[in-house]
Amino acid sequence: QCSVVCPTGAIVVRNDTAKLWKELSDKNTKVIVQIAPAVRVGIGKELGFSEGQNVMGRIVAALRRIGFDEVFDTSTGADFTVLEEAEEFSKRLLTGDNLPLFTSCCPAWVRYAELNYPQLIKNISTCRSPMQMLASILKEHHRNDEKRVVVVAVMPCTAKKQEAARDEFKEDGVPYVDYVITTQELIHLIKEANLIFSEIEPEAVDMPFGTTSGSGVIFGVTGGVTEAVIRRLSDDKSSFALRAIAFTGVRGMQGVKEARIDCNGREVKIAIVSGLKNADDLIRSIQQGEKQYDFVEVMSCPGGCIGGAGQPVTNRDGKYNRGAGLYNADRMSNIKRSEENPIIKELYDGMLKGKVHKLLHVNYRKSEMY
Ligand code: SF4
Repeated sequence: QCSVVCPTGAIVVRNDTAKLWKELSDKNTKVIVQIAPAVRVGIGKELGFSEGQNVMGRIVAALRRIGFDEVFDTSTGADFTVLEEAEEFSKRLLTGDNLPLFTSCCPAWVRYAELNYPQLIKNISTCRSPMQMLASILKEHHRNDEKRVVVVAVMPCTAKKQEAARDEFKEDGVPYVDYVITTQELIHLIKEANLIFSEIEPEAVDMPFGTTSGSGVIFGVTGGVTEAVIRRLSDDKSSFALRAIAFTGVRGMQGVKEARIDCNGREVKIAIVSGLKNADDLIRSIQQGEKQYDFVEVMSCPGGCIGGAGQPVTNRDGKYNRGAGLYNADRMSNIKRSEENPIIKELYDGMLKGKVHKLLHVNYRKSEMY
């Protein structure tokens, strides 16, 4: 096992990794890490595996050897996002207010809308991103710890660093997510720690926040958020219905997809876009009255987070393989729907009572430039 401090001393690549080694070596600090869905299928090729291979268990084990005290899966946060977003969407469908509902998981999209379409901010979901939801829950859980608690997020994304720095995601000036490192930075950490990734035995994430659903895992690919929300909204919980949802048009690497579903007898029109140019074109067509939707998923990176700027560069086939890796993980998951994740009920009945808005939602209208 490697030591909790950088064994090589060659720590200067990004400030975040340098600061992180310092946190990891501080005995009075508990360092908790969460891993985004897309990272598990984006990191392997650089470390001796095939493109798109799911190496989550090895990432977990590597992070423990590097010195992280607790390791979690951002997919758990995504399960909370699914429940909150599905409820928010249902309410908006009833009132007709602020439709279409635009998703809020992608900070680059949120920022793009703030700068270019401020009139659409009211349409963006108030749900925090999965990273922020899980971080808020973790900080709340450890509120009375004797040690200082630091939350780190391994993300496929450089925009998540800016999201973590936003004032809305701080409590008394302290961010819920203290550090964001990208997949590329994690590769660097693993190499600095002299770990031979391919020889590490896979391990499971920690409890009590270690249960996830397949719905949470597919957040990493374009259409995944929508598919997860449809699973939640669907009255038919059979496995046949689950398979049918996958064929509504939500899957595939196209930059613009459309789906129509029935929700309580009403036809719901959905658009899924990845790539900001596609989002721009779609918004214009909505504004010009050419298109009408109830729900719009926007991911800034083509293909979704699997193609994020913090991931090793890949091509279209590589993205396809990464997406397939996440869908395989969903297929192998024995919990398919977010609402079936046992930690969800436990936390809504416990820690989250009276704190759902504080810990799981955000008001972007107050946002300032960062
Ligand atoms: Fe980050 Fe890209 Fe995912 Fe948006 S789509 S959250 S910018 S990786």
